[in-house]
Amino acid sequence: MSKKTEHKECECGSKDRITEYDSDTQEGYEFCDVCSSYLRVQIINIPKHGMFPIGWIPEYKKAHFKTGYVLKIWQKGGNGFMTSAIEKSKLKSAIEELKKDDRVKRFAITFKDGKGNYQTQIYK
Ligand SMILES: [Zn+2]
Repeated sequence: MSKKTEHKECECGSKDRITEYDSDTQEGYEFCDVCSSYLRVQIINIPKHGMFPIGWIPEYKKAHFKTGYVLKIWQKGGNGFMTSAIEKSKLKSAIEELKKDDRVKRFAITFKDGKGNYQTQIYK
């Protein structure tokens, strides 16, 4: 395994796009916690029990999306935060639930406002 994790510049201008790439398998993951751009390349045909038949060729699946909303959650007693992209339609119920959740110390939502600037709203 030769996995490499680095921070790259994103198309939105953020210099903090997380990228993970495995040069052996060519699998990769990218996420920007400003604009929510997400990319994942995975091999979907790895044989069960690791028995690779002769002539096996990896089959890749690529997922790429951008919901426009990034959710960050800080939990009580924890270090750092969890970050993920969230869909607009799920935003309202997620905010309600996170407000009620005792384990959550703080959470924030980053999105683009009407003028095209990224805004972060912090809750709790
Ligand atoms: Zn970005």
